[in-house]
Amino acid sequence: MTEIQAMMENQRAFYNSGQTKDISFRIKQLNILKHAIEENEEKIFQALHEDLRKSPYEAYLTEVGIVRDELRHMVKKVQKWARPKRVPTPIYHIPSSSYIYPEPYGIALIISPWNYPFQLAVTPLAAAMAAGNCAVIKPSEFSAYTSQVLAELFETYFDPSYISVITGNADVSTALLAEKFDYIFFTGSPAVGKIVMAAAAKHLTPVTLELGGKSPCIVDADTNIDLTAKRIVSGKFINAGQTCIAPDYLMVHQSVKEPLVDRIIHYIQKFYGIKPGKSPDYPKIINKKHFDRLLGLTKDATIMCGGDADPDQQIIAPTLLSNIDGDHPSMQEEIFGPILPVMEFDNLSDAIARINERPRPLALYLFSNDQKSIDEVLKNVSFGGGCINDTLIHFATPNLPFGGVGNSGMGGYHGKFGFDTFSHRKSVMRSTLRFDFPFRYPTFYKHLKLLKTVLR
Ligand code: NAD
Repeated sequence: MTEIQAMMENQRAFYNSGQTKDISFRIKQLNILKHAIEENEEKIFQALHEDLRKSPYEAYLTEVGIVRDELRHMVKKVQKWARPKRVPTPIYHIPSSSYIYPEPYGIALIISPWNYPFQLAVTPLAAAMAAGNCAVIKPSEFSAYTSQVLAELFETYFDPSYISVITGNADVSTALLAEKFDYIFFTGSPAVGKIVMAAAAKHLTPVTLELGGKSPCIVDADTNIDLTAKRIVSGKFINAGQTCIAPDYLMVHQSVKEPLVDRIIHYIQKFYGIKPGKSPDYPKIINKKHFDRLLGLTKDATIMCGGDADPDQQIIAPTLLSNIDGDHPSMQEEIFGPILPVMEFDNLSDAIARINERPRPLALYLFSNDQKSIDEVLKNVSFGGGCINDTLIHFATPNLPFGGVGNSGMGGYHGKFGFDTFSHRKSVMRSTLRFDFPFRYPTFYKHLKLLKTVLR
């Protein structure tokens, strides 16, 4: 028996013991996790700095703080969410009553990426725990320091038969995917998402796929140029652009392109300085492969700002590209780095048509004061989620489901949506044996007309 198979057996036994069904157990474990994160905050910050050169502020804002808030919300609400819910019953089922029982799937596998390596492993885990599952986390091999901290943290505070962290590369993922899990929650690229879904199909295991893609940012003619530029810079260059929901490319109304680009350059310099490598608040690119890939995307474009790169520190300055068309290398793949191609449009419906030629994006951002433009975009473009007049903030609320559509994923989570994702909804109709109506029995089959008056 392999180590993974032994771990699966232990988790199966733990799940079958029924402990996770108890809501007070779940609340206790969520509080232990909260406490473990508090006690190890410094270690988590250090690991995120080693992996991505994140500052403690950015690490708290986009990783630790989000997880803590999610845990707080789960602890407060899980009792209510886990209760069986009575729902209406059609009149022809009288005197029965109908209930939905949320129940855990069993053992969940959570595979996470390197760009927010703490948050994207622990936020889904919190939902899996709240819903009463055991879980195995497989964090990314590219954010090795954070993966190590995760492994140590869970080993210290949790029974591995309940929560395990298995570190390693894609081979480890492959070995895990060969096992029969009861739910798989994957965050990563569409290419690997297909591999995960194919592996899940072999066991008919349900999946959530949180994938990526090219998320457009549209800037309409009628907007506040200064604030638009500020919010685009903050959303694009946080984590040096290595954010699944970062604006991937800009589509700007030609009448405002020049002033917008001026203000974007102003805010890049204000936030990160002329030489971003010197700024302690500007992250690095995760590895040499991505560093080289990103520099390749700037070829044959006009660089309006940035373009500098420091191979020793693996830092690429915030870079704005123009003279781009849909065939440019930067428009062929998800950029996932601090490079922002700027394209123009004359007419909003043309911009929408160009966006709709591509797979459905994970996020979309529209800056506009014009309600007609807002309605046109919302009506005609399908995307996972997004913002009007802002970037990224739709991610940080428990009240909106976060997830993609089509090529950018399936399913969603955060808050109650995460609890629902990791719960099977068991439907139960409760009847009585005290009396009986004859309608369903063959002895009544001659009364079709009467049946039609009830079942219309
Ligand atoms: P990735 O798909 O390369 O890897 C993600 C995870 O899958 C890692 O743990 C990795 O070890 C594992 N993996 C890699 N190859 C595998 C294989 N052949 N079989 C099984 N598992 C395998 O993604 P990444 O480079 O870590 O992250 C970048 C991608 O993730 C981008 O596309 C980005 O948009 C997306 N992403 C999406 C979200 C979201 O919430 N929707 C969040 C962050 C990143």
